[in-house]
Amino acid sequence: AENLLEIKDLKKYFPIKEGVLSRTVGYVKAVDGISFNIKKGEIVGLVGESGCGKSTAGRTILNLLEPTAGVVKFEGETIFDVENKVKVKKAKMQKLRRDMQIIFQDPYASLDPRMNVGMIVSEGIRKHKLVKSKREAMEKAQDLLELCGLEGSNIQKYPHEFSGGQRQRIGIARALALEPKFIVADEPIAALDVSIQAQVLRLMQDLKERFGLTYLFVSHDLSVVQYFCTKVMVMYLGSFVETGPTKKIFKDPLHPYTKSLLSAVPKSDPRSKRKRIVLKGDVPSPANPPTGCKFHTRCEYAENICKEEQPILREMESDHFVSCHLVEKINKI
Ligand code: SF4
Ligand code: MG
Repeated sequence: AENLLEIKDLKKYFPIKEGVLSRTVGYVKAVDGISFNIKKGEIVGLVGESGCGKSTAGRTILNLLEPTAGVVKFEGETIFDVENKVKVKKAKMQKLRRDMQIIFQDPYASLDPRMNVGMIVSEGIRKHKLVKSKREAMEKAQDLLELCGLEGSNIQKYPHEFSGGQRQRIGIARALALEPKFIVADEPIAALDVSIQAQVLRLMQDLKERFGLTYLFVSHDLSVVQYFCTKVMVMYLGSFVETGPTKKIFKDPLHPYTKSLLSAVPKSDPRSKRKRIVLKGDVPSPANPPTGCKFHTRCEYAENICKEEQPILREMESDHFVSCHLVEKINKI
């Protein structure tokens, strides 16, 4: 399949302000130069601990946050290229906004409590003037709700009348209203009861097949990612440490950080003993990240070079990239 999305050296820095003059004294490097492609129809998992920059990366790609640097291409067309000051025209951006949607983590906070469900789901189509009347908008909202496994008659109700799982279905219906090609799902099931999680994932899978969608699935839950995603990108302090096909990463993780994350995932086969690797300390502040390999303060294998030089992503086998100076030594390859 061809690339739907091509990202090159994407950065998002938030200025740290101080004093009465509110001078910029530094930057939180939330996303610090990530590059990747997503093919049509893929479900790509973006994983890491909280605060590692996953959500910010998703939002910056959608241009919900102004990027600090980098290039984003969608269907071969440059959306923005910060260095060369390329930005699509306003009208074109509107079209792109339709093609790229987001599903939020918190179905409670993301639905306006004062709007009924019909208004919520049809907001985008009304704003983009894709319907001629309010009545037509409500009919469309009804169809979308049914598509997402809810009764169409729910358009008259308000968000507080629904359970968490139902609200997330409403959020998905809203995201689908503009017939997008690409959806960033930011921890879409993290706030739901475990019993509901699988249902929502199944809905997302069905919709993907039916409409040929492509997902960037932001999650800290690796067992969900293993089941749902075709490709995985592991992020630590704004950078990728390992990316590759899900099967390869889960069978044979090469980066010490990925190994530690995976060691906490319950194995389907209870006989296989994977040693639990508990990392020392917390994730350091992205305002003041460690020098060299940003993971060195928590890595059990760290040597001098790790404190001095930042490792780059290297392709260790087809489509499997790792950024670690000592990857060969650690994995005996
Ligand atoms: Fe650990 Fe060094 Fe590899 Fe970083 S580069 S993950 S500190 S061994
Ligand atoms: Mg987040």
